[in-house]
Amino acid sequence: MSSKVRVRFAPSPTGPLHMGGVRTALYNYLFAKKHQGDFILRVEDTDQTRFVPGAEDYIIESLKWCGIEPNEGQGYGGDFGPYKQSERKHLYRQYVDQLIESGHAYYAFDTAEELNEQRELAKSQGKAGWQYNSITRQYLKNSLSLSADEIKQKLDEGEPYVIRIKLPRNEEVRFYDEIRGWVVVNTANMDDKVLYKSDGMPTYHMANIVDDHLMEITHVIRGEEWLPSAPLHILLYQYLGWEAPKLAHLPLILKPDGNGKLSKRDGDRLGFPVFPLEWKDPKTGDISSGYREKGYFPEAFVNMLAFLGWNPGTPQEIFSLDGLVEAFSLERVGKSGSKFDPEKTKWYNQQYLREKSGEELAQLLKPSLSFDVSDEFLAGVCELMKERALFIQEMLEDDYFFEAPQAYDEKTIKKKWKDQTPEIITELTSRYEQLEDFSAKKIEETFKSFLAEKELGMGAVLPNFRVLVTGKGMGPSMFQISELLGKEEVINRLKTGLERLEKQKA
Ligand code: GLU
Repeated sequence: MSSKVRVRFAPSPTGPLHMGGVRTALYNYLFAKKHQGDFILRVEDTDQTRFVPGAEDYIIESLKWCGIEPNEGQGYGGDFGPYKQSERKHLYRQYVDQLIESGHAYYAFDTAEELNEQRELAKSQGKAGWQYNSITRQYLKNSLSLSADEIKQKLDEGEPYVIRIKLPRNEEVRFYDEIRGWVVVNTANMDDKVLYKSDGMPTYHMANIVDDHLMEITHVIRGEEWLPSAPLHILLYQYLGWEAPKLAHLPLILKPDGNGKLSKRDGDRLGFPVFPLEWKDPKTGDISSGYREKGYFPEAFVNMLAFLGWNPGTPQEIFSLDGLVEAFSLERVGKSGSKFDPEKTKWYNQQYLREKSGEELAQLLKPSLSFDVSDEFLAGVCELMKERALFIQEMLEDDYFFEAPQAYDEKTIKKKWKDQTPEIITELTSRYEQLEDFSAKKIEETFKSFLAEKELGMGAVLPNFRVLVTGKGMGPSMFQISELLGKEEVINRLKTGLERLEKQKA
């Protein structure tokens, strides 16, 4: 086996990629980059009945959006292809035959009805969880219980069969999990899983280990739900005479209340997306929301995901992707489930939003604008609004940047508009008219010296100044808003607003 680290993300295209799947991909990516290894995308589509059109493209697009692209695999090419299991169909049978020849696998001809009968029978006798195993296989229809002639006849007649692994009755399977430590399972608690079906398709287990071997995978990093399959995989490696890759099973991602695994169905039901991108179900047309469409930055989403099961061991919470590569290690991945926190996800987005310059934010917002505005002006709006926003779209919610207010916050008017206000505003307006340099600094100086001279408090003037220019009772610095809007606009708004409000009073 090559010494170069090679890891794979091996999703089944059965629907949109859940954020737990994205986290698995992320940890694989981080591990690969950290060790200058390869990150491979393999599509596991052996179960054709669960195939969903569009799912493969969705997976590729999601990884792209997150910035965690494979350097090899489905859609990327490489020396170990094809990378889609349905296109590797011809590769598996020889290994199944090898297992039959060495006595580690056998044909089973039992029909679905016959197996159901066994299950029902066991149930009626009060035995739950009937299994096809080292005990029950003795009296079932398989190549261990039938004579050589019977087997030959069935095969010659083309009777449908499956090939099952033949597990020893009472043997300990031990393996080391990079996250959980030693795991020991007795084969008495395992069943003779199907490896291959007569339709020529391997099952997940068979295809998974053959591909991991042929693709020279060194580390299998996947979700905890695959831990129960690991002993079987270890035995398959052993029976085929192959070295097993190192295994690491990631902790579950739990619902926000900690009650169970966060599932695909939790999504919009709990008020947040569970998918990276919006997904339209091709059958029902139902739409599930995605982090991208909700306005999250991919860097924030990825940063948040990294912390669902891992921590750097320091208080640092903000990590770029490169920073994560640097800090990541499997040793710091926990064993216990990690609660998903939608509020923390918003917090991450806010941190990333604040880090961006007004120009960057303006470029991101521009495509969604339905009106014309200069880049410079939009950048100014973003600079002023970014401290108050969680998402970029929120920076456009204050429409006074783009048009003069038509209405004025009633609460402010009621509380702050006094008899002497029109006179104060008129005088302030004329001071502004005299300003040559209409910069925030000068506007502020003028405003403050006006207050001092008139012996007026902030509260008597600033709210009225704001409401006339913006229509609102609150917002970012009025001096900066004024500079951005420009002298003419501010003066116009002050005059128009004053006129309107006086007319209303009269
Ligand atoms: N195809 C499996 C899945 O959909 C992959 C499990 C593994 O990584 O071994 O999650």
